[in-house]
Amino acid sequence: MAILTQTKFFPSSINQLHTSHSLIRRTRVHCSAATTKANPAAERLVLKPPLQLLEPSHSPSPALLTDTTIRPPQPNDPSLLSTWSHRAWVASGCTTVLVSLAKSVTCAADSHIWLEPILAGLVGYVLADLGSGVYHWGIDNYGGASTPIFGPQIEAFQGHHKWPWTITRRQFSNNLHALARVVTFFVLPIDLVCDDPVVNGFVAVCSGSIMFSQQFHAWAHGTKSRLPPVVVALQDLGVLVSRPQHAAHHRQPYNNNYCIVSGVWNELLDQQKVFEALEMVLFLKLGLRPRSWSEPSSEWIEETETASQLQGQ
Ligand SMILES: [Zn+2]
Ligand SMILES: [Zn+2]
Repeated sequence: MAILTQTKFFPSSINQLHTSHSLIRRTRVHCSAATTKANPAAERLVLKPPLQLLEPSHSPSPALLTDTTIRPPQPNDPSLLSTWSHRAWVASGCTTVLVSLAKSVTCAADSHIWLEPILAGLVGYVLADLGSGVYHWGIDNYGGASTPIFGPQIEAFQGHHKWPWTITRRQFSNNLHALARVVTFFVLPIDLVCDDPVVNGFVAVCSGSIMFSQQFHAWAHGTKSRLPPVVVALQDLGVLVSRPQHAAHHRQPYNNNYCIVSGVWNELLDQQKVFEALEMVLFLKLGLRPRSWSEPSSEWIEETETASQLQGQ
């Protein structure tokens, strides 16, 4: 399968391609299949010479032109490890969520109102799934690495479509810190000013689910035999997004199953073609073309794991 791909997704790859990256944008890559299954026979990616140069006015040396090997993160790659900054953000995100939950419980106890906060939490869980789908659809389809605020997330999700299995190697805080930071900024002010059991219950469950959606997403890429049995049970019950449902997101036509909390919204959104309708509106009103319309010749097509990556499992 011949595909076109961008070369910039992970810091380690960027470092390895430091000299050639700015010169070579598109590289023909051969990969064996679009699947999340490991391919033990794949020793490494086979790369053909670049098809075009990003900056034709430059005259790259022959050495640069031949340095076209694109390597996904290796086991123990620094880009997959948690830093103390990541852990601090996850700790702050969890703290703000727990404070909101504690305020909901104490206010409910004081006012003897229990049903409404519980229902608010359930609504928060359901809406978190919808929110994860809308956000995932947005960053999968629009913007780029240079987009303000969302650029790193857009880049990371495109890298995820290229090398989905790396999410299972990513350490916990590395995977959650970006959303934990957002949760901290949004939930902390609510914690400070709000003493309503219903509002705090909704905020706690909704923001906590959004923060942990990347963990649910990682589990959706897991192998059943390696996942904790309770996670598999929750996936099978539809409490967490299921592995088969999310696997469909990583197959052509790459325009469905965007929700990654419980996945409860996926069927409705896809059957009603909600995102396709939104894409048409954005195209007609603003001239924005979603990336999903450019399939299958884009960077979304997955590469298989190499033998060296499999050794890291
Ligand atoms: Zn995606
Ligand atoms: Zn995924």
